[in-house]
Amino acid sequence: MGPQENEEKLMMKDLETVLYTEEQILARIRNMGEQLTAEYRGKFPLLVGVLKGAVMFMSDLVKRMAIPLEIDFIAISSYGTSTRSSGVVRILKDLDQDVDGRHVLIVEDIVDTGLTLAYLRDVLVRRNAASVKIAALFDKPGRRQVPIEPDYCGFTVPNAFIVGYGLDYAERYRNLPDVGILKENVYRGSDTPRT
Ligand code: 5GP
Ligand code: MG
Ligand code: MG
Repeated sequence: MGPQENEEKLMMKDLETVLYTEEQILARIRNMGEQLTAEYRGKFPLLVGVLKGAVMFMSDLVKRMAIPLEIDFIAISSYGTSTRSSGVVRILKDLDQDVDGRHVLIVEDIVDTGLTLAYLRDVLVRRNAASVKIAALFDKPGRRQVPIEPDYCGFTVPNAFIVGYGLDYAERYRNLPDVGILKENVYRGSDTPRT
């Protein structure tokens, strides 16, 4: 066993359960890409990835969309305590592209309370996008605080804190190829991870 393999095994040990393997995730993204190709043909969409969690999803998704498109990224942070989001969102890094008249697809890792996406969607609508839709790899509908649903969703997940494939806990585990539920003892002592 090489050192790299060993490190990955160590990260895997922090998971309670693996929910989706890399293969399952890529198979689902392939389907989503085909569906989005049909939906956005002739529309030259602008895909807006929400940093940093959506980086892996964006990268694999656009490779499965066989149409001309553009990608851009936005970084946002929500105010609030470590366990409760306030719904007030701050833009840390804005888009480079003008969204006026564009068909925008927000690419997000996971929809939880929905507060971040509700804010972001409003910002893009106010900037005069021709359309604003949401593609989320994961959806946790049981935790929603505002009525917002992804237009395209990869998987529905239970009310647990998940990591891997872009999703972090304290900036770690983003590079884990599979997605799973983080063991509670990993964050014992600190608050239940919010985001
Ligand atoms: P919101 O509560 O505003 O819908 O979620 C905002 C962000 O919180 C998500 O885009 C994601 O980055 C993060 N988040 C929500 N649930 C989880 C989770 O289970 N695991 C991880 N790692 N991040 C999450
Ligand atoms: Mg996110
Ligand atoms: Mg995070």
